[in-house]
Amino acid sequence: IRRPLIAGNWKMNGRVADGAWAQRFRDSLTANGTDILVCPPATLLHLFQGLFAGSPVALGAQDCSPEPDGAYTGDVSAGMLKDLGCSHVIVGHSERRDGHGEGDDLVRRKAGAALREGLTPIICIGEQLKDREAGIAIETVLAQLAGSLPEASADDVVIAYEPVWAIGTGRSAGPDEAQEMHAAIRAAWPGDGAGRLRILYGGSVKPENVAALMACPDIDGALVGGASLDPHVFARLVNLSS
Ligand code: 13P
Repeated sequence: IRRPLIAGNWKMNGRVADGAWAQRFRDSLTANGTDILVCPPATLLHLFQGLFAGSPVALGAQDCSPEPDGAYTGDVSAGMLKDLGCSHVIVGHSERRDGHGEGDDLVRRKAGAALREGLTPIICIGEQLKDREAGIAIETVLAQLAGSLPEASADDVVIAYEPVWAIGTGRSAGPDEAQEMHAAIRAAWPGDGAGRLRILYGGSVKPENVAALMACPDIDGALVGGASLDPHVFARLVNLSS
């Protein structure tokens, strides 16, 4: 009932010349029933909208303002992202929580702003290594979930579980560890529709480990950083995911 979703998060990488990436990526994909999303930096959204038009690849952004258009220098509203052809926006990534002091309340407001524009927020949650070592990973993540979740149907949001210690470290959570957390997140979903909620895993996902992660019953896809930057590697990862 849940279509797999593989999303690439380019983070603060990419130049206009990387438009050639899209062509190579598309040419390396085989149709396999997986939803595919690419989230380049905001500077490349307009370029990528043109490049992905008519392809199965959807476009997402990496962050949005909690506010509608107005006097917010440097910010990008959810409506602007919609205007650029985005269908999704990542909110609450740990690099924004830790690097920009974003807390659950702000993340919840950003997700709400995305929903009001008809965008699907990908709401990121995940524990620090010290929480896992202290044996409080699940309660930490469920508290983040409760604080970061706007009122929403399970069809309209995506949750991304990204243990902070697995991001960019090459050390992925094992399938059992990830599955345990995903099951806890699904069980904690408020209201009905938990069975339709898509929960992505993120943190050092690569072609070598994606199949084992995707085989877990509550893992519905991946949010991929480093391995999404090379078109052939990312296409291979997508092709291995179903
Ligand atoms: P890596 O895949 O580079 O570990 O990054 C994961 C991530 O933060 C995706 O949002």
